[in-house]
Amino acid sequence: MRRVVIIGAGISGLALAFRLKQRVPHVHLTLLESDSRPGGKIWTERIDGFLVEHGPNGFLETKPSTKELAADLGLTNDLVSASEASRRNRYLFLNGRLHRLPNGPIGLLFSRCLSWRGKLGIFRELTRPGRPPNHDESVADFFRRRMGQEAADILGDALVTGIHGGDPEKLSLASAFPRAAEMEARYGSVIRGFLRSAAERRRQARAEGREPTKTGRLWSFRGGLRQLIDGLVQALPEALTCGVRVRFIRALENGWLVHGEGQQRWSADAVVLGCPADQAAEVVADLDAALAEDLAGIAYNRIAVVALGYRRSQVPQPPDGFGYIAPQRTRRDVLGVQWCSSIYPNRAPEGFVLWRALCGGWNRGDVVDWDDERLLRAVHEEIRLAMRVHDDPVFHRIIRWPRAIPQYHVGHGERLNRIASRLRQHRGLYLTGNAYRGVALNDCTEQAILLAEQIARDLQTFPSNPHHSEDSPCTVS
Ligand SMILES: Cc1cc2nc3c(=O)[nH]c(=O)nc-3n(C[C@H](O)[C@H](O)[C@H](O)COP(=O)(O)OP(=O)(O)OC[C@H]3O[C@@H](n4cnc5c(N)ncnc54)[C@H](O)[C@@H]3O)c2cc1C
Repeated sequence: MRRVVIIGAGISGLALAFRLKQRVPHVHLTLLESDSRPGGKIWTERIDGFLVEHGPNGFLETKPSTKELAADLGLTNDLVSASEASRRNRYLFLNGRLHRLPNGPIGLLFSRCLSWRGKLGIFRELTRPGRPPNHDESVADFFRRRMGQEAADILGDALVTGIHGGDPEKLSLASAFPRAAEMEARYGSVIRGFLRSAAERRRQARAEGREPTKTGRLWSFRGGLRQLIDGLVQALPEALTCGVRVRFIRALENGWLVHGEGQQRWSADAVVLGCPADQAAEVVADLDAALAEDLAGIAYNRIAVVALGYRRSQVPQPPDGFGYIAPQRTRRDVLGVQWCSSIYPNRAPEGFVLWRALCGGWNRGDVVDWDDERLLRAVHEEIRLAMRVHDDPVFHRIIRWPRAIPQYHVGHGERLNRIASRLRQHRGLYLTGNAYRGVALNDCTEQAILLAEQIARDLQTFPSNPHHSEDSPCTVS
């Protein structure tokens, strides 16, 4: 029997285990998780009737992989989609007030987020020749080149703040927003590319007699994203062991030995590092210093999530929408606020609202170190300014992520090439997770399918491992 050890039971490790079991039903899977619970960044807590997400808030419909995973786990009936208002009503906090983000070209004309000069720069993008530079370009440089400085400062920054909590001057366009780079290469204009692909999607849906999918729509589950984690754990009986921190791995003649703390060891034909890149670097430090160096070089930002519950009567104008972003360029204490109970139904008890303030990010990691009292005071002040809410919340919960979202800085693509070439030297060693080819949940679940296929193919070619015993964990002297 083939043995595969997966290190890390976040969504990447769990989804990979599930997909691999589907492809190779007789594989012996071991998932080792250092925390006391699975899920990694995904966790949902119910507190006094509020449903609080610790990490991600949902997944988009841009890729089918997470919805398909939910279907394969029998969770389709528990899916909830975000409200239509949350798709349409998104705001920027600029110059002391909220500005609604435009939904399309007409909306842009009337938007107060940008000056006329700034708007003109965006419309000119349609006619500017598509000449991508032959080096890895930052997101800010891309926006400046295609749409002008104002679009870079406001729209480029808001995009990066909202998705990566990063710095647009540092993030690589090709790695962080590969579709934008692809659209420019294919259509000569990013705006034209997105308009054409939206029209193509509508045409295809009509031809197939179905409603066109709305790309901006977010999905979750009735019980929050934790339902996905619970579903995966249930589908993988006996595979998961929590509370095991993998220290290092050792290559054997035909396979691997995975070392936990003390005497714990697991033998395997294949090992997958599904933990964050800095942790993966520690695990392979003795095996391959060059690989470890490249993994350790992937930077992470820090984020504090502050969930807040208010009585509806405390909020002068209860918002109907997704929330707002304060572009990181403005260096505010709060990166953005999500109006969770306006996004999904049943997130707060009757008569209350639930919001989440996200603080920190690449340029304001210091905020994450503030003590609870200072952090709450800062969030309260920002919410007073943006939302005119003066009362204290009736409920709060603070979650700190010291290594929140990996940052695909300029040079990330080259780094991935070097990592891939080092991995080719170690048969049966694989990497997965959001540190490499996409930071969203959808990217993790899509990677799971691709990697499961690759491992299933490779396992057929590996010689058998003489160190296997039928027991797991197995101790090898
Ligand atoms: C605040 C926040 C908001 C987000 N919002 C969204 C969103 O709305 N939509 C979206 O699509 N994405 C969002 N994301 C991103 C999304 O959460 C991640 O892409 C995804 O959860 C990453 O999963 P992962 O399994 O790759 O990594 P992780 O979730 O980090 O899992 C890695 C696991 O490895 C374990 N581990 C580490 N070291 C070891 C070791 N030595 N031995 C054993 N185990 C180890 C860890 O404990 C962890 O459980 C958000 C992220 C954050 C932080």
